[in-house]
Amino acid sequence: MPRPLHANSPLIGVPGGRHLLDTPALLIDLPAMTRNIERMAAFAKARGIGLRPHVKTHKSIEIARRQMAAGAIGVSCVTMGEAEVMVDGGIRSVLITSPAVTPSKIARLVKLAERAAPGGVMVVVDNLANVADLARAASGLLHPLPVLVDYGAGYNRTGAANEAQVLALAAAIAGEPGLRLRGLQAYAGNLQHIVAREERSAAAAALRETVAGIVAAARRKGFNFEIVTGAGTGTHDLDSEQNAFTELQAGSYVFMDAEYTQVLAAGTEPSPFEVALFVQTAVISTNAADWVTVDGGTKCFATDGGVPLVARGTDAASRYAFFGDEHGKLMPAGPRPALGTRIEFVTPHCDPTVNLHDVYHVVEGGALVAIWPVDARGKR
Ligand code: PLP
Ligand code: MN
Repeated sequence: MPRPLHANSPLIGVPGGRHLLDTPALLIDLPAMTRNIERMAAFAKARGIGLRPHVKTHKSIEIARRQMAAGAIGVSCVTMGEAEVMVDGGIRSVLITSPAVTPSKIARLVKLAERAAPGGVMVVVDNLANVADLARAASGLLHPLPVLVDYGAGYNRTGAANEAQVLALAAAIAGEPGLRLRGLQAYAGNLQHIVAREERSAAAAALRETVAGIVAAARRKGFNFEIVTGAGTGTHDLDSEQNAFTELQAGSYVFMDAEYTQVLAAGTEPSPFEVALFVQTAVISTNAADWVTVDGGTKCFATDGGVPLVARGTDAASRYAFFGDEHGKLMPAGPRPALGTRIEFVTPHCDPTVNLHDVYHVVEGGALVAIWPVDARGKR
């Protein structure tokens, strides 16, 4: 007999399949994810701004296609491996939001640009030597390689530190026949999770003003930043004000997580996005007096965003603590869950959690409707 694609494959279409899964299992609530995709697409359309979702969150061709079908103009990727998966998966416009610096990364970039649609692979740069290296590598391409200047935006993980550096990079790119200056990236990762709405709003407004100033200064020098891209889920609405940006590159909205639920639930803003990503575990030991043990630990949940929150299966006030790489300690708030009980959790931080799993179990109510691979899992 041929082996099924995945241990849980035989449960596709079986009534109540969601409650029979081999655990721990990464779950997508399909109707919730679909509403998130549609809501962000409708928001961007209403604001007249382009949507280029960041696929670092989901690393999935299927989900990227759904985002494109809902109106996205392309996708954003952080690793070259994600970009390769997306281009080869048929996504026509891909922005790589981190510099490609080492010879191997530049060689892969040029190869990818060769097999993509003309201009379909764009990359950011923040260094003059990198501009020269890219130009040399791209000199044999049929079409010039589209490049965006990366501005640090106060976050400064990557990006030019100030306007003068942005202008110098723009001039260098414009002077290279193998490259085509397309625009500016200004991603402020440090603003996304500011819980106080007023504070996040003020910081985003200050960034918009700085970005608009840089774009105007570039225009005076004869450089047209046709694309101005930035924003995550935490500032997508703020960054779409006043035409400072032309594109949003939010990612987490598609799934949401415990961190973002806290951010978007704060103050006056009702979150337009629902949690659509869960991890289902099972109770595998019940002998300790004060807790039960579930089969999901640090190999199952990212640990950089706090602890998983109970979504269903037992009292939602029960508290989880990491209990090793394959185990979690669950302190029950109500009746102690019995051995074998399925308990589903909201993930603390969605993107790094996804990268710990091979597949998504796509559920609709109690049914398992599909299993999708995490296509770019671990791809650097
Ligand atoms: N753009 C860049 C450069 C990022 O690093 C990220 C996430 O870390 C995003 C966009 C998406 O942000 P979020 O997942 O907060 O929506
Ligand atoms: Mn994240």
